[in-house]
Amino acid sequence: MTHSAAAPMIEVADLRKRYGEIDALKGISFSINKGEIVGFLGPNGAGKSTCLKIMTCFIPPTSGSVRIGGLDVQEHSRAVRKRFGYLPENAPLYSDMVAYDYLKFVGALRGVASRKLAQRIPAVAEQCGVTDVLGQVVGTLSKGYRQRLCLAQALIHDPEILVLDEPTVGLDPNQVVEIRSLIKDLGKERTVILSTHILPEVLVTCDRIVIIHRGKIVANGTPRELQEAQASNPPVVLRIGADGLASEAVAAVLTQQPWAGAVRMRPVGLAGELEFEIAGRGADDLRERVVALTTAQKWRLLEVRRELLDLEGIFRKSTQE
Ligand code: ADP
Ligand code: MG
Repeated sequence: MTHSAAAPMIEVADLRKRYGEIDALKGISFSINKGEIVGFLGPNGAGKSTCLKIMTCFIPPTSGSVRIGGLDVQEHSRAVRKRFGYLPENAPLYSDMVAYDYLKFVGALRGVASRKLAQRIPAVAEQCGVTDVLGQVVGTLSKGYRQRLCLAQALIHDPEILVLDEPTVGLDPNQVVEIRSLIKDLGKERTVILSTHILPEVLVTCDRIVIIHRGKIVANGTPRELQEAQASNPPVVLRIGADGLASEAVAAVLTQQPWAGAVRMRPVGLAGELEFEIAGRGADDLRERVVALTTAQKWRLLEVRRELLDLEGIFRKSTQE
């Protein structure tokens, strides 16, 4: 069988998975091109891990298929496994092992020859920023270093495809930033699929977002496409100085305007500031009207913007029935 360069790297067709009574995947189909960084976004229990485990041959599907470069993962699991690097959720680490030995152990499991490993370990360690801790016992490493070491083990056999299940869970904010930038870096030469329940994660890291909810795909596109599809008439956000104003009174004035749709007060977390979200009517851009009204009312204008990248809203809209 031959495949053109344009064929997708990964093709998932009508994938279903049942655990006893639980329908974890209810028919999922998507494809991923070579070199893409794709984010699997969904709340806990959506089916993300199940899908990733099937793709990486850890569990079989109930029905449906996954093809990697045209090969069915069930029929060619050995060949397929070589092409994947996998960071499972709650990645198991052998905590009594020295980091170097752990990488050597995983490398051997992955079938990398020991002579090759001697070059490969320092290279992945460098790439993942764990060179300085290679001599340490894994159990003594900080959570951030452990996560980097897990990434290093996923890369040890130089796979084309990297599958990362919730790679930033349990990290502190600085470590999250570091791991995200490392993932972006790794994505320059590889196809990457990562799962997360955290919205900003997919925004900063991914080329494409697949939103999964209750075992089904509810959206699939670039951040921009999702936004354009779902927010053709984005709300306008107005922020003004509180200056003794009652927010209910301001909201009432806004609501009375013929051009305004629903008005929502939003918590700001800053003393002395009020924020409102004003839905439009029709396709008009309301920003100029909002500014004119603010001036006429002598409110102290701090900010007016269209909620262009309302991924949170896209997510809410996509996942509510
Ligand atoms: P996510 O990774 O998006 O949080 P999962 O794929 O882990 O979702 O789980 C999807 C659904 O399948 C959940 O309802 C979960 O409880 C159930 N589930 C996952 N693994 C198992 C299992 N081994 N046995 C039974 N139910 C499972
Ligand atoms: Mg999961």
